[in-house]
Amino acid sequence: YRWMSTEADKARAAAEPQPHEPTIFDKIINKEIPANVIYENDKVLAFRDISPQSPTHVLVIPKVRAGLTRLIRAEEKHKEILGELLYTASVVARNENLEDGYRVVINDGKNGCQSVYHLHLHIIGGRPLGWPPV
Ligand code: C5P
Repeated sequence: YRWMSTEADKARAAAEPQPHEPTIFDKIINKEIPANVIYENDKVLAFRDISPQSPTHVLVIPKVRAGLTRLIRAEEKHKEILGELLYTASVVARNENLEDGYRVVINDGKNGCQSVYHLHLHIIGGRPLGWPPV
């Protein structure tokens, strides 16, 4: 729990960057830093979280952020990529054999503990999950 509060505190302390500011996920997309990629097409990338919170912990991100730093910033033009991301979550869940259940999470903003301002879905599964998330 100490680790969790540290991560949460870090996320809460992080200022929301400008929409054009690059994030660590741009470096993953550009292959400047390595990631354990499990699914990829021309629009989205899915890779294993570097700090997994469950046996399966995958992040799904749009390859082109297009100003979509947070879900609350979504515009009409983002509707298609939002569909791609959620559909990719279902593909990942099938490929990871998560038939018994899993969770799709978007941490949005300071109070949502968002730390990387490039929209991403967490796919968390492989163990029974608690509710509610704290
Ligand atoms: O939703 P939030 O912004 O807090 O999640 C960011 C996630 O990105 C974290 O779970 C963190 O472990 C992950 N991450 C990663 N690889 C990096 C940097 C962060 O998987 N190089």
